Amino acid sequence: MKNFNPADNIQDLQYFGEFGGVNPSISDSSTYTFLSAKTMFDTFEGNMEGCYLYSRHSSPSNLYLDKALAAMEGTESANVSASGMGAITPTLLQLCGTGDHIVSSRTIYGGTYAFLKNFTPRLGIKTTFVDITKLDVVEAAITQETKVLYCETVSNPLLEVADIAGLAKIAKRHNLKLVVDNTFSPLSVSPAKLGADIVIHSLTKYINGSSDTVGGVTCGSQEFIDSLKNVNSGASMLLGPTMDSLRSASVMKNLRTLHLRMKQHSHNALYLAERFEKVGLKTVYPGLKSHPSHKLYATMIDPEYGFGGMMTLDVGTLEKANALMELMQEKNLGYLAVSLGFYKTLFSAPGTSTSSEIPMQEQIEMGLTDGLIRFSIGLDNDIERTYQMMMKCMIKLKILT
Ligand code: PLP
Repeated sequence: MKNFNPADNIQDLQYFGEFGGVNPSISDSSTYTFLSAKTMFDTFEGNMEGCYLYSRHSSPSNLYLDKALAAMEGTESANVSASGMGAITPTLLQLCGTGDHIVSSRTIYGGTYAFLKNFTPRLGIKTTFVDITKLDVVEAAITQETKVLYCETVSNPLLEVADIAGLAKIAKRHNLKLVVDNTFSPLSVSPAKLGADIVIHSLTKYINGSSDTVGGVTCGSQEFIDSLKNVNSGASMLLGPTMDSLRSASVMKNLRTLHLRMKQHSHNALYLAERFEKVGLKTVYPGLKSHPSHKLYATMIDPEYGFGGMMTLDVGTLEKANALMELMQEKNLGYLAVSLGFYKTLFSAPGTSTSSEIPMQEQIEMGLTDGLIRFSIGLDNDIERTYQMMMKCMIKLKILT
């Protein structure tokens, strides 16, 4: 038996509905009654465990999902939010104020990049973007003002791997908080177990898995989550990116099958990546030996859940990438769409979509080429059949001969 199995931790949590239902009841209220005025005051002050005041602060449905996600990440607590950005932005604003500094990976989701590059400077928070795979470069970027080290476990879209244990050591040495966005690798990697202080997910992706909602979560210590929700000074409470209870109940139900889905996503992606590489396509996938961080990543993941469902192919030019994506969509091999973690394969050219916030020169510097296609490999039942059909598309477009 493993010491820490995130899927078992989720499974072990049981919640019943009001009438003995197998799913917990959904709290369909924005406000809550109190029998005494004194209890209301105490709840407002945060002293009444088990009492609810107002649903922007917390609701029973959100707390169920909070608990399940904290159990998954092995943190004391969690706070769900209306989107991934609704988790990232309050977390960083809670940790940093005017004059503070962040050291961030330069290959991160375009929205997070834009927030750090364009928005937080308006509040006097500066960010230095670094190559996160080079620990000496990361450490050299730290200043007296640095408060946070920020990265994605597997970066979007280049699939660079952050050495979380190595970064955690640097963070401890300099008394910084290591914040890790683990959206691409739920269950596979448990950043808090590797030393991260705070773990974030866009629930929109694998965790919900059905592309029907946006959602997010911040997982961390009880103290930090309480600070986010503090009625006087909490960024989540005051900025208000609250998840709706109906949605958190539906995300909770989808979370129940995450372990099965992750295994199939990983199986299918590894299969395709190996086959594509063999025929000479420029393939990036952390499960391939050719990936620069393959060895490191193999020590970070729980092999049961594999190397994940994300891969990239570089087909040379944007024209070829667009033609291939359009043809694959026509053949019902997937959808030309941003986002990830759906049952169907999704593909997009990040340079012109999810990373378009990153200026062209910076895209070139980080190796984000024009012909790059990002794939979120789906749950296809017969992946060899998918492979054969994709090959036909590539031969037709003369990407392969
Ligand atoms: N983090 C990563 C790695 C993402 O890919 C995304 C969205 O694409 C986000 C965060 C933002 O999440 P959301 O769209 O749910 O706000």
